[in-house]
Amino acid sequence: MVDTDLMPIPGLVDPLPVARAITPRADGRIDLIGLPKAAIRDLFEEAGLDAKQAKLRSRQVFHWLYHRGVTEFEAMTDIAKTMRPWLAERFVIGRPEVVEAQHSVDGTRKWLLRTADGHDFEMVFIPDADRGTLCVSSQVGCTLNCTFCHTGTMKLVRNLTPGEIVGQVMLARDALGEWPKGSLAGLDDAEDAGHYTADGRLLTNIVMMGMGEPLYNFDNVRDALRLVMDGDGLALSKRRITLSTSGVVPMMARAGEEIGVNLAVSLHAVTKEVRDEIVPINRKYGIEELLEACAAYPGASNARRITFEYVMLKDKNDSDADARELIRLIKQYKLPAKVNLIPFNPWPGAPYECSTPERIRRFSEIVFEAGVSAPIRTPRGRDIDAACGQLKTAAERKSRAQMDREAAQA
Ligand code: SAH
Ligand code: SF4
Repeated sequence: MVDTDLMPIPGLVDPLPVARAITPRADGRIDLIGLPKAAIRDLFEEAGLDAKQAKLRSRQVFHWLYHRGVTEFEAMTDIAKTMRPWLAERFVIGRPEVVEAQHSVDGTRKWLLRTADGHDFEMVFIPDADRGTLCVSSQVGCTLNCTFCHTGTMKLVRNLTPGEIVGQVMLARDALGEWPKGSLAGLDDAEDAGHYTADGRLLTNIVMMGMGEPLYNFDNVRDALRLVMDGDGLALSKRRITLSTSGVVPMMARAGEEIGVNLAVSLHAVTKEVRDEIVPINRKYGIEELLEACAAYPGASNARRITFEYVMLKDKNDSDADARELIRLIKQYKLPAKVNLIPFNPWPGAPYECSTPERIRRFSEIVFEAGVSAPIRTPRGRDIDAACGQLKTAAERKSRAQMDREAAQA
């Protein structure tokens, strides 16, 4: 699990190696959260169980972890009493630590979380009338630096592990009280089956739109989402999961093939000049390449459209001509697309202003009139800095020199 590779930083900044190792636990125990069932079985075998026992126990433990949400081996009542301490000596059931939980006046909730090795990141829950969406982070900070995004100004970056990514979903279920209720003792599967279907849940959707660029942490995001989608795991449908990318073109086909969730693309501009400036990864993978990759995205269809996110920046990307060019591009590449217009969410020192409401409405009308849906997103959780692009944790303001030193030491 511990990966000591250095991660080169792509994008606007010069390549700079950043250690992405996670510090192993001091007590030597292994966190099971984030591991596929087969890996848990292998660990049980390595720890001394015979093959048959390892298989049986891993299946039971996996069920307790992801269906029941238990955080103690002692609660696993169908596992022999003597075996539970044996497990607890060797393994842990991790959750990211909650440093702070905030509530917005509009019901949005934000959690400041901390990894076992002391890095802070954030997760946001957005309740709506007909759904509840959890906005999950994939990295601490982001190696890219889109000029309108607060996360992009964070310097320290580490990829989150599969356990830290799926752990956010589990923590949200903890906080929302969405694990099966009642006494856990003595219930077998048949009795309990009705209690944990997806129906009636508050947390119904997941968007990979928190901190970080998920396609620069592909393996971990994929492994985490597989646990989220696994019928024996958290069992959320891939149709209820959306991955947002700023346009890491070389990873998009793999995302479709190996993860298969809905795709959202942070387009934000329709000319090279403007997109180069505000989404600097555009200098590496331009608009044409990006839209070709969208057209080829496995699973995209009229029933499953690609969402183009478009942040509305005053006098930057919000003219009638921009709206028309957006339509032209969507038609040229024959994209099954919808557009999400996101009013710019301000943050201290941001170099932009949000477009006026009239301008956003006009932009939306032009796109709608051409037959493409372009709803205007209502900002959520602005009062607690939980809205798109406002996520940034206070602790992560290290200098380049400091990062270089740390990378060299790792
Ligand atoms: N890194 C990924 C996913 C996280 S950002 C990506 O860029 O797609 C989620 C969305 O919020 C992206 O579309 C992003 O461009 C947008 N966003 C960033 N900063 C914003 C801001 N200040 N106001 C509104 N939207 C913003
Ligand atoms: Fe990173 Fe996305 Fe923010 Fe750009 S918009 S800096 S890719 S998190």
